[in-house]
Amino acid sequence: THAVELHGVTAGYGLGPRRVTALEEVTVAFTAGTFTAVMGPSGSGKSTLLHCAAGLDRPAAGSVRIGGTELGPLGDDALTVLRRDRVGFVFQAFNLVSTLTAEQNVALPLRLAGRRPAPGELTAALAAVGLAGRAAHRPGELSGGEQQRVAIARAMISRPAVLFADEPTGALDSATSRQVLALLRGLADEHAQTVVMVTHDPVAAAYADRVLLLADGRIVDDLPRADAAVIA
Ligand code: ADP
Ligand code: ADP
Repeated sequence: THAVELHGVTAGYGLGPRRVTALEEVTVAFTAGTFTAVMGPSGSGKSTLLHCAAGLDRPAAGSVRIGGTELGPLGDDALTVLRRDRVGFVFQAFNLVSTLTAEQNVALPLRLAGRRPAPGELTAALAAVGLAGRAAHRPGELSGGEQQRVAIARAMISRPAVLFADEPTGALDSATSRQVLALLRGLADEHAQTVVMVTHDPVAAAYADRVLLLADGRIVDDLPRADAAVIA
């Protein structure tokens, strides 16, 4: 089954002579429980692909399905609910709320869904990213790597079917990166979650089942893991 499907997706920015095409008729499907790395030069459309696939941006043409639901016909409110229920997103800039503690940041998606955290749920989520001792710290009191791990715990807390991550290890040292990548790998292997990650790092991509290579808004290569090792 396909957790996410894009068909003929074209997307861009600006109007008229300033129009930039970021994606051109991209067709791709992500199988449930797989971990995909999206690579390619800066400006090749990786972030735009992620944003369209996650329902954060609406493409100019083509269709996107998440869990079989086509996003195009959904109004903004329905799209927000679908994202809340099925999608986690880890941003390059962590997007944490600076006035809330790590634990309160992780709890946000549950609160927004009107659900109280189960006893131990938040502690477990922080422990899973190696931050058991930082529950009461605010983002300003955490390192970049720690903030990124809080962002990942927050994206995972509602156990979304699909987790999108835009360069989740970009700001992390190699030991912390490996920890985060093993975590993402585990979500796919042990929880059948679908993970799609943008990365520049071949070492990070080697954790994935599949590597998509973008250039100029098109998918120019689609490699299974065995071949993907060649990139590194
Ligand atoms: P990547 O993630 O591979 O670096 P992006 O998806 O961010 O690529 O960008 C694809 C193209 O769209 C690039 O030409 C980029 O300059 C352009 N672009 C991205 N975001 C914007 C924006 N907010 N406004 C205008 N152009 C943008
Ligand atoms: P086990 O199967 O050994 O109990 P899991 O792989 O289920 O362990 O999870 C290990 C830790 O990671 C647990 O603390 C669990 O709560 C946490 N965890 C795993 N997946 C998620 C997720 N999607 N969201 C939040 N926490 C998670």
